[in-house]
Amino acid sequence: MKKFRARLTLIFIILIGSSVLTAGIFMARMLQQSYIESLTASMERELRVIKATTDWRQSGSEPELFRFYSDRAAMLRASADARLTFIRSDGKVLGDSDHDPALMENHLEREEIRDASASKLYGSAIRYSSTVQRNLLYVAVPLLEGENVTGYLRMAMSLEDVEGSIRQVWFVLTGMLLAVFVIAGLISYRVAYSVTRPIELITSVARQITDMNYKYRVQVNKRDEIGQLGHAINRMADSLELQMNRISEDENRLKSVLESMTSGVIMIDREGKIALLNRSAEEILGFSAKELLGKSFNQAKQQYEFTQLIQECIDVRDHIRDEVIFYYPKERILEINLNPIAEAGGEWEGLLIVLHDITAVRRLERMRSEFVANVSHELKTPIAAVKGFAETLLAGALNDKETARSFLQIIFDESERLNRLIGDILELSKIESKRIPLQFSPVHLEPFIGNCVHVMNTEAKKKGIELELNVDGDFYMEADEDRLRQILINLLSNGISYTPEGGRVRLKVEQLVSGKEVTEHDKVRFTIADTGIGIPKKDLPRIFERFYRVDKARSRSSGGTGLGLSIVKHLVELHKGTIRVESEVGVGTKFIIEMPLIHN
Ligand code: ADP
Repeated sequence: MKKFRARLTLIFIILIGSSVLTAGIFMARMLQQSYIESLTASMERELRVIKATTDWRQSGSEPELFRFYSDRAAMLRASADARLTFIRSDGKVLGDSDHDPALMENHLEREEIRDASASKLYGSAIRYSSTVQRNLLYVAVPLLEGENVTGYLRMAMSLEDVEGSIRQVWFVLTGMLLAVFVIAGLISYRVAYSVTRPIELITSVARQITDMNYKYRVQVNKRDEIGQLGHAINRMADSLELQMNRISEDENRLKSVLESMTSGVIMIDREGKIALLNRSAEEILGFSAKELLGKSFNQAKQQYEFTQLIQECIDVRDHIRDEVIFYYPKERILEINLNPIAEAGGEWEGLLIVLHDITAVRRLERMRSEFVANVSHELKTPIAAVKGFAETLLAGALNDKETARSFLQIIFDESERLNRLIGDILELSKIESKRIPLQFSPVHLEPFIGNCVHVMNTEAKKKGIELELNVDGDFYMEADEDRLRQILINLLSNGISYTPEGGRVRLKVEQLVSGKEVTEHDKVRFTIADTGIGIPKKDLPRIFERFYRVDKARSRSSGGTGLGLSIVKHLVELHKGTIRVESEVGVGTKFIIEMPLIHN
């Protein structure tokens, strides 16, 4: 643009300069010509006056004539202030005001003489005189006698004055020319600036748009083509900005959808490079997007089976669904969906992979089927006993009263157990499905605990076990009273069952309050400790599982179902509490429950 402006300015200067120069030259020529013309006219006039007033002498010897005319010439020179020459019709110089005529050559061929002889009026010429070393204007008039030319009278004047004034004109002209150049330069720069400036602005805005900077606009206040171009550029920038905003909005939306998805999403381009990876995918693969983006998919070497699936999908270009177990960075079962992405033109664009963590689903399914198997097994044992003893009775044992009685007792016990088992299973399923919401109410702990312990007293007495109660302070807690009772009775009953005769079971209740005001962060701690057989370390993590028993035979003999602790744990969790166990074989077991004092 700068170049264009300079060129435009130069063109302007050249145009203006050359026209001023042409005008100057023309003027100088005109001036010179009219000056010379008027000078010629006045010289001619003078010559005619001289011609008329001169007394022409034709006779005499040549030296006489020379002297005569030279004297005349010298005399006239003084009054006319010009060189005068008398020339005979044959060209011989007879007299000259400035030179010796005897030494001068024939003048017949001089331009002014030839002119004068031809026109019979006058002749003129401009010539450089080597004698005076300057340009001279010569004017000659013929001396006529009838039709015959008898001689010529010539006057010569220096053109110094003319040339001086012409030079002056040139001097002024050059000065003017320079001034015109400067002014023209300035004006043409302004003009060029006003022409190129809007183009420059438009170019810079266009450049900004190319650099994806859409907030710049052209300031247009012209209505010409440049103004229209500016408007067009502005409208283009508006629409581009709008489109870019829309695109980035869509992109953000898509990004937030992708990032908040729990499924992993991976996109692989046509070259087999990873083009996109959301946060869940990073977590599942155990690599950050930074490490994987732009890399080939088979870089994920830890997941050999996964990369094989991708290769297969690339080969067959069809949807593939499979379940794969990942061991790195964490063991999990993944459902993998691979879909080739087809472009509108039918071209293959890449691969979209969706990873779905189904570990929990599969574990739940496994637990459910295990539970069904366990339940069936647990139900089968008492039913088999009932059936077996009833058969034996029917086969004749009925007659032996003693035996019959003991058999019936077993049948009764087993059906009792069956009843309890079914009751517990139903209870557990009710709690697990959260069909019955908790009924929270303030529970006055001291009398409530006293009541629970009282219920267990008979059983404890039967085994000669001492039941100890310790409530630290008189306070209330918010809980579902029936559920809380169920929890405590279950644990006390376990304590009594798994403690040999003469042992001790203790229930301790404390309030864990940090500040003066009671908040939902404050807790109640129940500790149920016994001096029983204890639980081996290896079994500790599993005792809250359904049907899990450390010693099956012992549990059976104590009438246990293996569901008690599982129910307890669920109920504690429904109260937003925690339960943990500490135990040492042969020394005793301690269950510690912590529950919030109040609920919001
Ligand atoms: P069960 O009806 O068999 O008692 P629970 O779910 O109540 O079932 O208990 C699971 C298992 O945990 C029991 O079979 C027993 O082996 C062990 N257990 C529970 N409480 C105690 C305890 N206080 N002392 C020793 N072992 C216990």
